[in-house]
Amino acid sequence: MTLAAQYATRIGRMKASEIRELLKLLDQPGLLSFAGGIPDPALFPAQAFADAFQAALSPEHQAQSLQYSVSEGYLPLRQWIAAHMAKIGVQCGPENILITSGSQQAIDYLGKLFLSPKDTALVGWPTYLGALAAFNAYEPRYDRLRSGENQPPERYAQAAEAAGGRVKFAYLSPDFANPTGVTMTHAERLQMLDLAETLDTAVIEDAAYQDLRFDGEPVPPMLALEQDRKGGDIEACRTIYCGTFSKTLSPGLRVGWVVAASPIIQQLVLMKQASDLHSPTINQIVTYQVAEQLFDTHVAELRSVYMRRRDAMLAALKEHMPAGVTWTKPEGGMFIWVTLPEGISGAQLLERALEQEKVAFVPGQAFHADGSGENTLRLSFSNSNEPAIAEGIARLGHVLKTAM
Ligand code: PMP
Repeated sequence: MTLAAQYATRIGRMKASEIRELLKLLDQPGLLSFAGGIPDPALFPAQAFADAFQAALSPEHQAQSLQYSVSEGYLPLRQWIAAHMAKIGVQCGPENILITSGSQQAIDYLGKLFLSPKDTALVGWPTYLGALAAFNAYEPRYDRLRSGENQPPERYAQAAEAAGGRVKFAYLSPDFANPTGVTMTHAERLQMLDLAETLDTAVIEDAAYQDLRFDGEPVPPMLALEQDRKGGDIEACRTIYCGTFSKTLSPGLRVGWVVAASPIIQQLVLMKQASDLHSPTINQIVTYQVAEQLFDTHVAELRSVYMRRRDAMLAALKEHMPAGVTWTKPEGGMFIWVTLPEGISGAQLLERALEQEKVAFVPGQAFHADGSGENTLRLSFSNSNEPAIAEGIARLGHVLKTAM
């Protein structure tokens, strides 16, 4: 019994993610994996969480921590986030913040909020696979956002209308993007804000990796740049900022947040009520306690560890990649994006790499809304130590040389 004939049309666009399928194969002994873009579990602040959970479960606090709570999210956590946002140039109050179950839920809600079938979402080629997966359920059409390109904005609007809808938002990850590791310059961010203004669309700023800058100059979030342009008035901003504790404290607790003009937050709160009422109360409480206690020092440690891993991967790529292969040089985050010579398939290379050299990565095609990018792949350096990176990239270089 499948009942497949009764499924809604939106289900037709929901496919198993290549990454999830692949992660099933990663348990083999001796396999070196640069596939999952996940934090190193050895770096979780586990003791601080243990203490915070114990306190939250004590007789004085359990009535609150195990109880239902408001859909907007735990107020002290929203206040902490407001202070955190102020440090990166965004002035907002708790009324501008919704706590979500990871930023993935925020991305899904924003798809639900804006997209009717046939509407257009502007995304990069490539872009975060999880955003495409979330948006797909709302049956949009995608158009390609090109940073730094001067194409007339009307072209986007006309193409969207021809497809039977309107451009509803641009989805971007301006800092150390997944999958490319690339950061948008100040000028590119302003240009993107101009485009959104002309098209009268929202901007979804996915800031998942923003805290993980290793070197170079920080660029203000798009929301900060827009707020600045609008005389400091967050209520006038069309940028919707999605933050998360997944890459800094713990992804397993599923605590993320959205910052936006309050009418947008109020609409998202209604969605949250209808979907899961609120994010787990106790997870929000312990996240607040741990963030308050050690966020800055912990993030400083993550940066220094991940920076060494990035450096090790860049050095190994330089040493082992055959001529004709290029890659990005990220200033933070977890990813390096590799482009192979035309005609070499990332997916086929993965098969060989797993079989012959026991090394894994994610082929790049899945990150492209149009199915292009066959000759690309994503490497993650966050969850491997330096010797494993050196060994794994040497193995990858070996498979590539035989493939070429
Ligand atoms: N955005 C980007 C760019 C990501 O890479 C991820 C995690 N892979 C997410 C959002 C979602 O993360 P979370 O739901 O854990 O906050």
